[in-house]
Amino acid sequence: MKASNLLIPTLKETPNEAVIPSHILLLRAGFMRKLVAGVYTYLPLGLKTLQNIENVIRKEMNKKGAQEILCSALQPKELWQESGRWEKYGPELMRLKDRHNREFCLGPTHEEIFTDLVRNEVKSKKQLPLNLYQIQTKYRDEMRPRFGLMRGREFLMKDSYSFDIDEKGLDKSYQDMYEAYSNIFDNLSLKYQVVEADTGAIGGNASHQFMALSETGESTIIYCNCGYAADQEKANSLSRSFEEGEKQLEIVETPQQKTIEDVSSYLKVPQSKIAKSLIYYSFALKEYIMVVLLGDREVNLIKLINHLDIAEHEIALASEQQIKELGLFNGFVGPKDLKIRVILDEEIIHSNNLVMGANIENKHFINANYQRDFEGEVVDIKLVEANHICSKCGQPLKQEKGIEVGQIFKLGKKYSKSMNCNYLDDDGLHPMVMGCYGIGVSRSLASIVEQHYDSNGISWPQQIAPYQVVIIPTIYEGLNKEYADKLYNKLNKEYHIETILDDRDSKPGFKFKDWELIGIPYQIIVGRGIGDGILEYKIREGLKKEEVRTDDILKRLMEDIRSAKEKPEKRRKKVLLGE
Ligand code: ATP
Ligand code: MG
Repeated sequence: MKASNLLIPTLKETPNEAVIPSHILLLRAGFMRKLVAGVYTYLPLGLKTLQNIENVIRKEMNKKGAQEILCSALQPKELWQESGRWEKYGPELMRLKDRHNREFCLGPTHEEIFTDLVRNEVKSKKQLPLNLYQIQTKYRDEMRPRFGLMRGREFLMKDSYSFDIDEKGLDKSYQDMYEAYSNIFDNLSLKYQVVEADTGAIGGNASHQFMALSETGESTIIYCNCGYAADQEKANSLSRSFEEGEKQLEIVETPQQKTIEDVSSYLKVPQSKIAKSLIYYSFALKEYIMVVLLGDREVNLIKLINHLDIAEHEIALASEQQIKELGLFNGFVGPKDLKIRVILDEEIIHSNNLVMGANIENKHFINANYQRDFEGEVVDIKLVEANHICSKCGQPLKQEKGIEVGQIFKLGKKYSKSMNCNYLDDDGLHPMVMGCYGIGVSRSLASIVEQHYDSNGISWPQQIAPYQVVIIPTIYEGLNKEYADKLYNKLNKEYHIETILDDRDSKPGFKFKDWELIGIPYQIIVGRGIGDGILEYKIREGLKKEEVRTDDILKRLMEDIRSAKEKPEKRRKKVLLGE
């Protein structure tokens, strides 16, 4: 491709809307443009890069025997009602009506559609196992679309669904996808960690996420040197326990001491000896719920909604007004003699002689003890953070930021039962056992940039780069033009290396800056030395420059390309950092 024919609208300045490197660089290097919040147009370089990622994914999926299909983004309400998700999915689901008032959504995921397809088309045990996938556009009305392709309202996903006759079959399908995903992220040159994950709105009973390591990630990975690694939403840690003889319950004055910090310094007790009592209201359950945990812990909302079996948008902290209406006093609430549902974090029952709100204004209890003074449903509800203790090995846990680029789920019979997706056996009909597997294709594109850039721009790994080589004549005239044209034709036509020729009538400095920003892996500069048969050869990663003779350039280039191909980076880390 000749640069003069390519739409590459690079920008000098950082657009205001962008804060993280991938967002800034993909806009500046002319890979994409924003249409509206969370919705992007891919320009020629962006689309080509995205297609390279798709092809890495296709290759590994096909190797495992998965078959590609393509579904519509438009999905009828009826299928979502069958699975019970029309209500539960909440405001993230983009809903719309046709001219006959029939309701639809734009698919955020496709469990219902694939289950419906398979129940109609597959009847016999002999047709299983089956793994179908697609690479298709998804829609989610995210509360905060941001960071460019990281959290879009429209984004590209590879989603696949496996159908087996039994759990053993599912284990095999799941393992296959685990391996395929590991190969995919290795081949995308991503440094990543596989973590145990919560199953979220999709459901099911086991799940892993693939997290690309990055400071800009919105996910938190909790991990330990012993090999334990989990998404913070899922992570567990050892409960703290205080062993101390039970003391007499007393009520004490705590005037205006409403926060944990206030009470801690006023009564001179550590925060870990205070019970933090929070009141929530669930719109779905139409009830108030108190959650009690140690004063220096936070609530893991995902654990809470899982326990209550509701969606995230169906619960919120009660307002001061609501607390008043319950006859309680904000800052002085506690679980003793309370008429509402109480959930106690596991740590609360391993601690004794706690300070807690007395449900009287300006008063707290001291020496409150589980069962003697208060009760509730005991659940693991705390958010695990660095320095909590690993429940596998007893060492302190660590935490790290990550970008969720993929997630795999063992769904079991959740959808096949609710939607009657059965196979026929000698002894009748049985629900199929399902798995589902997603990769954020557009999010992977941004994640690769997050891990492959420097102060000059993007540095694409060879197998993902939109073009492998760019030839940059400092002036596109005379001998320079003649040589550049010849090399360009040779590389494209004889060597089948995707090459750009920068035939633009611009200053050399401008061209160099542009290609450093865009990040083409190999750059050949045809400059003043051409009369003496000398070229400048630049490798984008690390911006290593050297002079290479025209006689040697093809050999050198092909060697570099081959060796990068033969040694795909094995970047997967079993245990994070410290390695
Ligand atoms: P998140 O927790 O980041 O919102 P999710 O767990 O809801 O993601 P899944 O339902 O597991 O996402 O979707 C499969 C994959 O699609 C994710 O692993 C992620 O890579 C990608 N993805 C999900 N939501 C978005 C989004 N809004 N924009 C871009 N990619 C997304
Ligand atoms: Mg997920």
